Amino acid sequence: MHSRLTGEVPRQASVFVVEQRGLYMRVAVGLVLCMLLASIPVSSAQSDSSEEEAWPGDPVDSHVHMTWAALTLEVNEWADDYPEIVDLTSIGQSELGRTLWVVRLSNWSMDTKFDGSAKEIVYIDGGHHGNEYLGTALAWLSAKWYINGWAEGNQEAIDVLDSTELHITIMLNPDGNDIDTRWNINQVDLNRNYDHYWNTCPTTQPGSSAFSESETAANGVYMNTVVPDADLYVTMHTGVWIMLYPWGKWPEQPSDWELYHKIREDVQDNISSIPIQNANQGLYPNCGTSRDYGYGVMGYPTFTFETDDEQFVPGSFENLNDRLGEEMDVMRFLINDVWYWRARLSVQSLSMSQDSITLTVDNGARASTANATLQYFDADGMLLWNSSFFGVNASSSNTTSLDATNLSMVDGGTFALNYQVRVVDSARWVNEPVEGIEVQIDGEEETSFLIGYGLFNPVTLMACFVAVAAVANERKELEDEA
Ligand SMILES: [Zn+2]
Repeated sequence: MHSRLTGEVPRQASVFVVEQRGLYMRVAVGLVLCMLLASIPVSSAQSDSSEEEAWPGDPVDSHVHMTWAALTLEVNEWADDYPEIVDLTSIGQSELGRTLWVVRLSNWSMDTKFDGSAKEIVYIDGGHHGNEYLGTALAWLSAKWYINGWAEGNQEAIDVLDSTELHITIMLNPDGNDIDTRWNINQVDLNRNYDHYWNTCPTTQPGSSAFSESETAANGVYMNTVVPDADLYVTMHTGVWIMLYPWGKWPEQPSDWELYHKIREDVQDNISSIPIQNANQGLYPNCGTSRDYGYGVMGYPTFTFETDDEQFVPGSFENLNDRLGEEMDVMRFLINDVWYWRARLSVQSLSMSQDSITLTVDNGARASTANATLQYFDADGMLLWNSSFFGVNASSSNTTSLDATNLSMVDGGTFALNYQVRVVDSARWVNEPVEGIEVQIDGEEETSFLIGYGLFNPVTLMACFVAVAAVANERKELEDEA
């Protein structure tokens, strides 16, 4: 019924020039460098209406319209002016051959965060529907806000770009955009053309097959090959003023309802009264959307951001920052706190007896995980032992007793946690070494070891694990002799 793409999409393969950026080594060290508060004061970029910030579009009919040509000039200027943070490339081409620009923003002088851990990944797109200009404008503003902030020394923008990669495809449907229509040039509704329960519900013009259109196929390939590890995907439209989370296909709440409800609570308590609902109930049943694909196939936390349909009136041009300020506040919150939009497990204690392990695990972030295991590897990285599954709810702790009758300690052995970062079946798996904890063996003080004062020192860690293994062996020898 649906599948991940493999990168073999003939039409735009030749222009698919993005490269795999970095190896997202998910060595979660559990630090809080990126735990930024959403309440950082608004930068001057928001109220300044200098020419430099003007939206590169013109009022046309009842819309403010930016052509693909204007966008092309704009994003190339960004790349020329701020090469240290703007990496401009393309996800592919439209049916008529227009380049689908993706603006990639981060502090590119660093491949990782300052602590060496992988940067967070955020994916944003706008303009699926060519006549929904405010959705395209919000994607544009999401890039522009951080570029201006960086240029002006805004600390929030700097912190985000130091710790996060923002990948923003501003205008996914340039052919439809330039002729002011919802559809692409083949009269297809791009937001019904994704390979997630494609054409299985009342819909119009979903295309001849899933990913039949070059715009959606390019977007799918980009998700699968460049940003598969994203912990936030927002797709921007115009309609009623609402934020929608999965599913569009079903009225039921998604597996990660806890995460979505928590985000709704935080947004509505602190930032905006914008309604936040699952798409099927909040709008109408829909399928084959990028939102459901992003969640159901890619495993991202996904939102459709719908700005309201009161478009600009000719002659009363507003600064986009003023017009979309509240939407941008919500986006800044989602981006600032992207670290939280998954499960993040850390072992608090690990105590071993002959036949079992008692394990206490904290989840420091806002998504639950349902199928974690504790694993034991030898010094060469070969998996020697796997515990039974256990779950850890969002923002909670879980103590569990694991059968360890088949576990034999070895010199240089190490533990790791293996789990999915969210509950949905498609959520990505991570494997994170267990570091910085006190391992107790049979609760005897003399055989306790503090593993952790050398948190970032592999030599210290290795020595500690060797010591644990040596004691375990020694105990076994004593038992054998007895
Ligand atoms: Zn739309």
